[in-house]
Amino acid sequence: MSENINYRGFDFHCHIDLHPDPPYLITRCEKKRIAVLAVTTTPKAWTQNKLWMQHSDYVHAAVGLHPELVGERYGEAGLLEELIGECRLVGEVGLDGSPQYRSSYDKQKDVFSRVLRTSQIHGGRVLTIHSRRAARDVCDLVEKHSNPDNVLCILHWFSGSLSESRRAVKAGCYFSVNAAMLKNDRGRALIRDIPSDRLLTETDAPFMSIDGRKSSPLDSMRIFGDLAGLLGEEDRVTRQRVTVNARHVFRFAGID
Ligand SMILES: [Zn+2]
Repeated sequence: MSENINYRGFDFHCHIDLHPDPPYLITRCEKKRIAVLAVTTTPKAWTQNKLWMQHSDYVHAAVGLHPELVGERYGEAGLLEELIGECRLVGEVGLDGSPQYRSSYDKQKDVFSRVLRTSQIHGGRVLTIHSRRAARDVCDLVEKHSNPDNVLCILHWFSGSLSESRRAVKAGCYFSVNAAMLKNDRGRALIRDIPSDRLLTETDAPFMSIDGRKSSPLDSMRIFGDLAGLLGEEDRVTRQRVTVNARHVFRFAGID
């Protein structure tokens, strides 16, 4: 992240490779000056993502194994551990405790524990973490296997309780928040409670919908107004806060 670039948005969790034309979208993000952490859902997808993004100053590929896919792709966990050795951005990883993924929950815990341990050993790793219906277990594993000096955890689209988010704050976690969270009271209460130096923004594109269409990382520019309104401050103050936090996170991963 260059100190000289005046970034217009930050998307700390989106799926560029699920867009119909990833190279085009990357170019658009560069033109609009949006810094992006682009997650992948299987370790095998990472090589192609890396090729698309390796020369970009704005869009950065992460290596991941989505918890919803762990049931069918458990065998790729070893490859994921290996790739964490060469990629300092990790995601999408985590746990999903929804009923339809319950049968793979033990495997999910195993994979997430291995991800945390591997990241802890290498150090300087940034993780973007899925925690739907699993916030408590995510906190347990983060506390058990990592520390914030070595592993910077970002809880993406967090939907746990206030006490769970406070626990995550104590464990050193950051939070990437999105427009959908700002639309309901529960999400708004959570965001208001997060210390401002842990706040980041995301779109989870294309999975979130905005104005009846699929979201895009370019939407990350639009969140500052609503976020500032919630925090009771001027847009530029919120933007500045997120910029400072974003620079810290990218620096942690060795991206200047
Ligand atoms: Zn996602």
